[in-house]
Amino acid sequence: MTEHGCKVCRVLAERGMGRYEDQLVDQWQAEGPERKGYRQLAEWLNVTMLRREMDRAGLSTLGQEAESKYERLRSDDESVADEVAAGLSGAGIDVERLRRDFVSYAVVRTHLKECLGLEYTPESGDWETKTIEMAGEYASQKVSEAVRSLSNKGELEGGELTVDVSVTIECETCHAAVPVERAVRRGYICDCE
Ligand SMILES: [Zn+2]
Ligand SMILES: [Zn+2]
Repeated sequence: MTEHGCKVCRVLAERGMGRYEDQLVDQWQAEGPERKGYRQLAEWLNVTMLRREMDRAGLSTLGQEAESKYERLRSDDESVADEVAAGLSGAGIDVERLRRDFVSYAVVRTHLKECLGLEYTPESGDWETKTIEMAGEYASQKVSEAVRSLSNKGELEGGELTVDVSVTIECETCHAAVPVERAVRRGYICDCE
């Protein structure tokens, strides 16, 4: 934590994105299909940052252009990510700063719960989605405690820490691996039958 609060506080302030705060909270507390979990909220904020930069640089943001650039920018395949980064840099976008400003789902949770002091208790929704969400919450809480303890004991060095626990499901046939929330949201893992 700094004078700005968390990283989300800082990024929203520095980028003049304060008006997105309400949307962030609304999507978090929404019921039904509009509801977004921390990971989806982080993605939404990051895509919004990218889209604003693309708009400012005069790049097309029609359709899913910003989403698709974001996914490729975060791709594990470095050649894919580098190609998108080069394109954005060529248009005058500070890609390094963008990458530094991208937020993780853990800091979105910190922002909503600690900076804004809000709570969310799902009232409706299916048990499967709730179970996945709660298990992720529980895992990241436990891992955070352990990591904090190691770091207090000096056995783990580094700057400010956030823990990002991600459950991935993998197709045994084609080995496509997708974060479980994304797979559930879009309704498929891969093209295999
Ligand atoms: Zn904050
Ligand atoms: Zn497959």
